[in-house]
Amino acid sequence: MPRVGFLCDGNEEKISFDDCKKCATRGKMLCNRDPAIVLGTLKIVEEYIPTKRDRPSLSVTDLTAVCHRRTYLQEKYDYREKPSDLRYLWRGNLVHEMLSKVENKNWIKEQKFAIPHKIKLFGEDVEVFIVGKPDVIDILNKEIRDYKTTGSVFSATKVISLGYKWQLGIYRWIVKKSHLDLLCTSYYDTFIDMKIDRMINIPIINFGEVEKYIQKQGSIILDFRTNNNVPSVIKKFPMHWLCKDFCSVNHICSKLYYEKGVK
Ligand code: SF4
Repeated sequence: MPRVGFLCDGNEEKISFDDCKKCATRGKMLCNRDPAIVLGTLKIVEEYIPTKRDRPSLSVTDLTAVCHRRTYLQEKYDYREKPSDLRYLWRGNLVHEMLSKVENKNWIKEQKFAIPHKIKLFGEDVEVFIVGKPDVIDILNKEIRDYKTTGSVFSATKVISLGYKWQLGIYRWIVKKSHLDLLCTSYYDTFIDMKIDRMINIPIINFGEVEKYIQKQGSIILDFRTNNNVPSVIKKFPMHWLCKDFCSVNHICSKLYYEKGVK
């Protein structure tokens, strides 16, 4: 992920992580943001180190991405975001901090699994690891729980995102294939906003469907990683909500689209 620095929230100019950190450490930021939140965000960004493995890894985040083109562009091109664009990382981290303080002998919390698997790419088997880290596996109740912070629990739970459903489906598959060999019988997303939290039971997806999904998504990802084939834009480009407000590489995407005809 070549995230090479930030765009300052104050003047929108390029700034290195180090200079942003200096500004926040001074305690009075040029962007007028809370320095503790910015330092917390920087810490999460700096601590991210991709795990090195002897075969390609496909994380559950990669597999359930709304736009593979965005993943491709973020892997191939240098890009920057504003620290405020990463508020979701900081917010999500609060939940993980909370989880780390709750003890229950029946819970496995935030354990990373890497499951060997084969993906077919143009007729050839490619050996990969499917990597996932469920927030909680409750071994007593055979249940998986994942936590989602959101601006509005009401909106987020009106229609549960397909990506969330697949995420839990893959987690259940991973837990069964892992050394735990545990067949979970239910899974939940717990949505949290500033007023309420709501635990939603997500319908189980059978393993056959999960494996088809892993194959479909995995082959697109392996194709761009090995053959440099640029994934296509999301159907409604550039009108998709993700393109407009949440894509840090939309300028590279539209350049490819309009100037080079790569759609
Ligand atoms: S602008 Fe839209 S289509 Fe392009 S990479 Fe970003 S999310 Fe994907």
